[in-house]
Amino acid sequence: MFMLACACCAFACTAEDPIEKKVDSIVGKMTLDEKIGQMVQLNVTIVGNEDATGLSERGEEIIRKYKIGSILNTLGDKGAATPEAYRKMIRSIQEVSMDEMGIPCIYGLDQIHGATYTIGATFFPQEINLGATFNDKYAYELGRVLAYETRACNVPWCFSPVMDLGRHSAWPRLWESFGEDTYVNTRMGVQETLGQQGCTEGAIDEYHTGVSLKHYMAYGAAISGQDRTPSSVSKRELKEKYFPPFKACIEAGALSIMVNSAMNDGIPFHANHELLTEWVKEDLDWDGFIVTDWADVKNLYERDHIAVSEKDAARIAVNAGIDMIMDPYTVNVCDELKELVEEGLVSKARIDDAARRIIRAKVRLGLFDDPYGEKGDYSAFASEESAKIAYDAAVESEVLLKNEGGILPLKKDARIFVTGPNANSMRAINGGWSYSWQGDKAADPALTGCYNTILEALQSRFKNVVYDPVLNYAETWNWQEEKFTGSIAAAAAKARGCDVIVACIGENTYCETPGNIVDLNLSTNQKELVKALAATGKPVILILNEGRPRIINDIEPLAKAVVDIMLPSNYGADALAALLCGEENFSGRLPFTYPKYPNRLATYDYLLCENRATMAGLYNYDAKMDVQWEFGAGLSYTSFTYSNMKADKSEFRAGDVINVSVDVTNSGEVAGKEAVLLFSSDIYASVTPDVRRLREFTKIELAPGETKTVTFALKANDLAFAGHDLKWHLEKGEFRLAAGTESITVNCTEDSIF
Ligand code: BGC
Repeated sequence: MFMLACACCAFACTAEDPIEKKVDSIVGKMTLDEKIGQMVQLNVTIVGNEDATGLSERGEEIIRKYKIGSILNTLGDKGAATPEAYRKMIRSIQEVSMDEMGIPCIYGLDQIHGATYTIGATFFPQEINLGATFNDKYAYELGRVLAYETRACNVPWCFSPVMDLGRHSAWPRLWESFGEDTYVNTRMGVQETLGQQGCTEGAIDEYHTGVSLKHYMAYGAAISGQDRTPSSVSKRELKEKYFPPFKACIEAGALSIMVNSAMNDGIPFHANHELLTEWVKEDLDWDGFIVTDWADVKNLYERDHIAVSEKDAARIAVNAGIDMIMDPYTVNVCDELKELVEEGLVSKARIDDAARRIIRAKVRLGLFDDPYGEKGDYSAFASEESAKIAYDAAVESEVLLKNEGGILPLKKDARIFVTGPNANSMRAINGGWSYSWQGDKAADPALTGCYNTILEALQSRFKNVVYDPVLNYAETWNWQEEKFTGSIAAAAAKARGCDVIVACIGENTYCETPGNIVDLNLSTNQKELVKALAATGKPVILILNEGRPRIINDIEPLAKAVVDIMLPSNYGADALAALLCGEENFSGRLPFTYPKYPNRLATYDYLLCENRATMAGLYNYDAKMDVQWEFGAGLSYTSFTYSNMKADKSEFRAGDVINVSVDVTNSGEVAGKEAVLLFSSDIYASVTPDVRRLREFTKIELAPGETKTVTFALKANDLAFAGHDLKWHLEKGEFRLAAGTESITVNCTEDSIF
């Protein structure tokens, strides 16, 4: 992909490149209508028949008339479908597309934590959990397995990975991200992209899918924490924190990008020429395509009022750099775009460019050669090997946040009182984008009956389990609704007869706007339950099963142990049971900051003024960074000691590589894995420096008493910050590097701008 630019196309390619030659020959024969049709994506319900087994007559007519290039979504409103059902529907679409245009349709699906819209597929923990593993092999494996199982459906394109930084604790899509940090999202996003696509350039084979990196960008920085609402991030911060994950994945060959539905500093992302065309297509010489999010061209008119009509919205978006319009339910945009071209308001060159990009993706995916997906052998669909990887990922993702007096691991004959609305719910451990958009279909025993809930997993490992949920969630989309199934007093009585209480609390499933909340506190019912149970004097273990950090500052002190399992999915309860009994050891770390108060939300890379002691003099200007748990928090059943940190140079300048090493010893009694995180702090800089930034991480395994030396090859340029000129600045002066309890200082000897 990153080859010498040539005259035959506006973007990087060589005249001999077989993909470009093919693209040239296809686009050269296309009519304006066909090019416009390629730019439109419809929801499958608009073209499918009632039982979703193929195109309806009307659907066929629409595809033929408007030359539609792309279709998305699960079949009908049934949620996940079998590979066979997808194949049938897609064959029907391809037959018409090939007959009418000779151009195959590109079908796209939200396969988020596995092929999660496919019945029987391997479900990995959600991305937030993969962030918590600090082990990027799982992001690669997620991509690889989800691609294979998606291609088994003859679907070549996925709307993942999600690479929004989850910067606001209340944001209902926090769990879809790898957490709050730029570097974690970059590393994980790149690995998922490589796993899905199987290559960095050229053809993507029949076992791999094209990615759609989403949602470009700063979606998780919504000021209010509500879905699809404005952010106000400076360009400098966009460049430094939000852009790098996208840039790195584009450099790893990403096929497409989906745009953030909201707006930044007053400009909807779908209308932002600078970000869509200049930053991505021009500056990175990227030849992929940009797809809108759901109905977001119309939103420029209907919702955001920056366009005066739907047609005007199409003009603004396409001129800004949108290549494909996800206009799920209508086709007016086809006529509108044609008029805009005829009126000279959108150039033919822009339409040609968009069509080229989409055709290029179809060629890369091999859709012209194999539109019916007949080439591959998918007999390893949902293999035991894949299930084991998903289980291991869950084990490494669940985070032990508190273990007072070493109450965990529990003895196998302990009498355990299991309670809470999350204890017996396959839906809650899966989260949204699981069999259905809102995750509600994960409750269907026909889909998840073969997996264990927390209760079932505990029953399989512990002999004496007493269960009373006391509270349950409603079974509807109204996920915040809770209903009492028993009394708190009766539960307390049962708890008194047990040795320990395992309270499984948190959230039911949600996704996007329906997941908005007005109070970050955990529900009052659940807090009351925990308080009453703690009053029995029996030790309480809190299992937090939630997509974002719900505030628990009043019940945390009542608990002896706290485990945040987030959304570990189908194998997550087995992983938890194995961890609670000590068959496995904890090694997950929080990939976000867990707040203590709703009005003191923070990220780990805060500025010094946010946390300081009282100033001398009359006024009390102190500021406290008082959080429940810090980014990177996470305990183990063993302990690790850090020593001997050093760098191979004490002085450096731009372009250098600093080899930083630290010895890590397992100083406890059991084997364990340790995520080693390397942070840097720029002590003085001309733009206020963040208190610290994560620069590297790795995961190691150590036997008791064993020591390993971890070495990071830290690029000096990675220590730079983005200036107001949108260039990278590395300034003279001291930098502190820290890992575990160790830290050293290195000195930059020269100012550089690059
Ligand atoms: C979501 C996207 C998703 C798209 C297609 C939108 O509502 O924001 O993440 O890919 O729908 O289903």
